[in-house]
Amino acid sequence: MSQYLLTPGPLTTDLSVREAMLVDHGSWDDDFRRLSRSIRESILALIDNTDDTYECVLMQGSGTFVVEAMLGTLLPHDSHSLVLINGAYGKRIAQTLEYLGRSFGCIDKGDYLPPQPSEVLTYLNTHPQTTHVVMVHCETSSGILNPINEIAAVAASFGVRTLIDSMSAFGAIPVDLTRLHCDALVSSANKCIEGAPGFGFVIVKRSVLEASAGRSHSLSLDLHAQWKTMRDTGQWRFTPPTHVVAAFAQALLLHQQEGGVAARGQRYATNRATLVNGMQALGFQTLLSDQWLSPIIVTFFCPADQQFKFASFYDGMKTRGFIVYPGKLTEVESFRIGCIGAIDSSVMAQVVQACADTLADMGVTDASPPSSALQARQRLLDASA
Ligand SMILES: *Cc1c(COP(=O)(O)O)cnc(C)c1O
Repeated sequence: MSQYLLTPGPLTTDLSVREAMLVDHGSWDDDFRRLSRSIRESILALIDNTDDTYECVLMQGSGTFVVEAMLGTLLPHDSHSLVLINGAYGKRIAQTLEYLGRSFGCIDKGDYLPPQPSEVLTYLNTHPQTTHVVMVHCETSSGILNPINEIAAVAASFGVRTLIDSMSAFGAIPVDLTRLHCDALVSSANKCIEGAPGFGFVIVKRSVLEASAGRSHSLSLDLHAQWKTMRDTGQWRFTPPTHVVAAFAQALLLHQQEGGVAARGQRYATNRATLVNGMQALGFQTLLSDQWLSPIIVTFFCPADQQFKFASFYDGMKTRGFIVYPGKLTEVESFRIGCIGAIDSSVMAQVVQACADTLADMGVTDASPPSSALQARQRLLDASA
């Protein structure tokens, strides 16, 4: 029986993507070098790079490794960053800067409220030493889509540079780096491009990259050195995840055949609509109000019903072929269902049916959340209004 990963990476991949991993490649081989080069070109083709200001650098490791490579290579030692936090991934950026010993301040909005452009404006007015804003595009821990365009515009008006963790959004949500005046954006193989996990990539302004020579704290995470080697020899500096790279090339081809960023975003949005409508009909409620729901992943409150236990729910869903994702909220119990990966709306309808059947097995008759969860959400929404 096939199993669907409703998790935001690793995610469900197409059979042809997995089949691409059946071939062994030598990392020094011409064919493999061509593969790496074509991947870098295809990624740049997903953004508006008509005036050729951006480079794409591939880097081994999971997404976090690549974020760390970006921060450690591109942030000058005397920089001061504003980190925007509304979940686990924003927190991880702050933690990385602590490790790197870079100066930074935070705006922390808690579990799921979006950082507001006006708050960034206030911060930049009161912290004129700020050189960079670092932010998360889709905060995967809640699924919220942050207002990066509006915030980048504020940063640009101060001459402040922007670095974006677009891990779970790139490839499905359009970004216009030039209009954003964005220095760099990072994503990875196993999110919206629908490849296997093993490496990530940074899209970075060439001038910024050139100015970063010799800055990295880390030999293996030195983005500048990786770029120079890739540019000059076509090779990765250290052993690349060859099978994963081959799978990614196939995933990019499927992305293109589907119709690119717009079509992929549309499929995910349709997945989300089928999921949310179906789950609401069962009595479930989403953490986020409709305006902030992303087409990437949706957080649902756990039902108040005493019969509901997440562990049994997880097992029931797994038995039916669906791997769901635990919640990451601190205040209330929740779980998440991803809308990304090689799945369509008919799969999402099966997910909803599997939820209904699992609840019936558990003896849960009402999927509505406890009133305390809704009250907590309302209090925070009021505080941000
Ligand atoms: C997936 C993801 C990452 C990277 O996580 P890894 O576990 O290192 O792959 C970083 N930021 C966001 C927003 C993500 O969704």
